[in-house]
Amino acid sequence: HSYPAGVAFLDGQYLPMSEAKISVLDWGFLHSDATYDTVHVWNGRFFRLDLHIERFFGGMERLRMSIPFTREQVTEILHNCVALSGHRASYVEMLTTRGASPTFSRDPRDAINRFMAFAVPFGSVANAEQRERGLHVAISNRIRIPPASVDPEIKNYHWLDLVRGLYDAYDSKAETALLLDFNGNVAEGPGFNVFAVKEGKLSTPAIGVLAGITRRTVFDLSGELGLDCNAVDVSVTALKSADEVFITSTAGGIMPVTKIDGGLIADGKVGPITRKLEKLYWDKHEDPAWSKPVSYPS
Ligand code: PMP
Repeated sequence: HSYPAGVAFLDGQYLPMSEAKISVLDWGFLHSDATYDTVHVWNGRFFRLDLHIERFFGGMERLRMSIPFTREQVTEILHNCVALSGHRASYVEMLTTRGASPTFSRDPRDAINRFMAFAVPFGSVANAEQRERGLHVAISNRIRIPPASVDPEIKNYHWLDLVRGLYDAYDSKAETALLLDFNGNVAEGPGFNVFAVKEGKLSTPAIGVLAGITRRTVFDLSGELGLDCNAVDVSVTALKSADEVFITSTAGGIMPVTKIDGGLIADGKVGPITRKLEKLYWDKHEDPAWSKPVSYPS
């Protein structure tokens, strides 16, 4: 096996990615019983790390997991992983699994929760060409796991629906997938939220989706630009007849969509509001109120 260059934190130690190994008996692996968060470092600076830490601790609380680290200690561990990796553009993940039970008991309360983290090179949902011309997306006929089953507020690894949607999309020559919710409205895709722009107003699905930090950032940036932005039900028709469509993720930021199910969005060109938000988003990566520098060893 080979692994990307990076540094992991596991059981109190900082290790190269190739040495960061967990037990096959961990409930995180056996039952998707885990929560995680991802944050990125761009130009040597963490972007909105405090919001990611808050979401991560909120997920652990709801799953009744506890770790022997405070928010400040987790922040420091993530900084150390990036500093030791030397990456100036990094994808950083923190996760807590239910862990393994010393007796293989079936009671999750017997498992010892396990926190780990790692920093690897930054990777985007969209490549350079796709960011330039806009992504081609397929609407999947798989339904995103409903919120009554798995609370999407808890960032989780229930991704089988998303991954199968992605393969279906590849089969139909699209580049990524969008899944619908139980009512047939648009939900989210493999690792991203979605927005539609119509007559200068933005909308994004309200329920059954992760409260993405990039999604939240789009609300904040729309406010700065004086644009109306709302979380509502978004129908497939509304999405396909929008003036502009874009997706949002920590792994890539704000990324244009110009084709859905083979049909163009408006004239098929990336729209002005998408471009304006995208620029402002990356500009904020230099702003000390939004981003904090990593102290790399000299
Ligand atoms: N939805 C899902 C299912 C995700 O996994 C992610 C990111 N991993 C997102 C949306 C986007 O969230 P964020 O902007 O916080 O990266």
